Amino acid sequence: MIPVSNQSFAERILAWHDVHGRKTLPWQLNKTPYRVWVSEIMLQQTQVTTVIPYYQRFMTRFPDVLSLADAEQDEVLHHWTGLGYYARARNLHKAAQVIRDHYSGRFPERFEDVLGLPGIGRSTAGAVLSLSLGQHHGILDGNVKRVLTRWLGQKGWPGKKEVENTLWDKVAVLTPAEGVSQYNQAMMDMGATICTRSKPACERCPVSDDCVALALGTPTAFPESKPKKTVQPEKQACFVLLQSGDHLLLVQRPPQGLWGGLYCFPEFADEREMQRWLSRFPEAGKPEPLPGFRHTFSHFHLDISPWRVQIPRIPAEVMASDQRLWYNLHQPAPVGLAAATKKLLAYPQLHKRIP
Ligand code: SF4
Repeated sequence: MIPVSNQSFAERILAWHDVHGRKTLPWQLNKTPYRVWVSEIMLQQTQVTTVIPYYQRFMTRFPDVLSLADAEQDEVLHHWTGLGYYARARNLHKAAQVIRDHYSGRFPERFEDVLGLPGIGRSTAGAVLSLSLGQHHGILDGNVKRVLTRWLGQKGWPGKKEVENTLWDKVAVLTPAEGVSQYNQAMMDMGATICTRSKPACERCPVSDDCVALALGTPTAFPESKPKKTVQPEKQACFVLLQSGDHLLLVQRPPQGLWGGLYCFPEFADEREMQRWLSRFPEAGKPEPLPGFRHTFSHFHLDISPWRVQIPRIPAEVMASDQRLWYNLHQPAPVGLAAATKKLLAYPQLHKRIP
């Protein structure tokens, strides 16, 4: 028998995948570029177990590129509500429209064309074309970066261009000529199930014999983290929960920026600004403070102070328009909701009727 370390990296990864790899995830069945693409986008920031039910609902509603391209953005965001990172859904929708309008609705099969679609980077393009069509492209997603930085003992934060370029060079050397689809899948599975972020199962790892991080005794020191910025800035906002019976006023955010395209409560920088807006509604009751909370974005914290304001009838001034919606708590409209909006809509105080 050949000692394990005499087999190439790829041979060991492929042998492991034969026995332990995941082969029956929903996007691994009836593989098409479209189905793999949607799964890759959903999996970018989210774990497999969370993604599965979202993926299945999404595929039932949008079984192909055209059904996605022709849908309203609100409906696409609605199917994404809860997955977070909504730019992914907006780009998926935009890319489907590009495929409809420029590729006659057929998912492109040339790497450069796929890379040109909104929201698709080099690794995702490689994953889609290798996993669905067996084309020879390497991948370097978060899971693969973790496995490689550890196995190689690669120093530096992989988000840094030079480190990333070094890793891409290694990917080119390590990716085998044959079986690239299985190899790429195996690398992602390795990162997700063996070489995990905080508790790598090195005793079950097929490449442990020559893993540098394991030899150093510090697997979790790799990959190095992003250099810390100074303290995260904090911002405050008042949200008004203007409520008439079962209806609450939501406004759609502009397409760009925070919570772009999603429905949120009217937001004000401070109480004075909020009071000024409320003065337009003489029938509105006194604002009652509700428990606040902190919502953390990637680059700052937002401290949210919610105020519930009851009003006996829906004011004519803010009847439903394209950007405004009187959201019915018992018959929720199929629109995308920001995470903070969803959380506030679940507050028990809102579900108590006006006495
Ligand atoms: S030996 Fe441990 S740290 Fe090294 S690649 Fe395998 S699981 Fe990761």
